[in-house]
Amino acid sequence: MKTVTAYCSACGHEVRLVLTDPPPHDGQANLQEEAEIICLDYHAECAAGKCPATGKAGIVMGVRLAKSHLNDGAFKTIRARCEACGQISDLEVLSDTLALCPLCNSTVRWTLLDLGDSVIAVTGR
Ligand SMILES: [Zn+2]
Repeated sequence: MKTVTAYCSACGHEVRLVLTDPPPHDGQANLQEEAEIICLDYHAECAAGKCPATGKAGIVMGVRLAKSHLNDGAFKTIRARCEACGQISDLEVLSDTLALCPLCNSTVRWTLLDLGDSVIAVTGR
């Protein structure tokens, strides 16, 4: 695994890209043999567009970073019950609508529910 810096034209500054090692060959046809690029400087605004550094949809980069746990500090968190595993956890916010559960690594949809005197986060798929 190595880290390179690159200028991101969407962010307007340099970002850190991590090139992951390709998964080991297991003798079977594997469509994901290439190393993945993970941007350590992903932020929620990236989800709206396309990542100029990799050509992927921004949200794809968010999911990659969150699942890699290489920079969990990059994400805001919301406390909610995960729809996928049922546990209360601090979901990592990927975008206005998507978050990742650090306990089960599932991507879930989230929304804020206004109860009048308080606002809570809820998830659903
Ligand atoms: Zn979960």
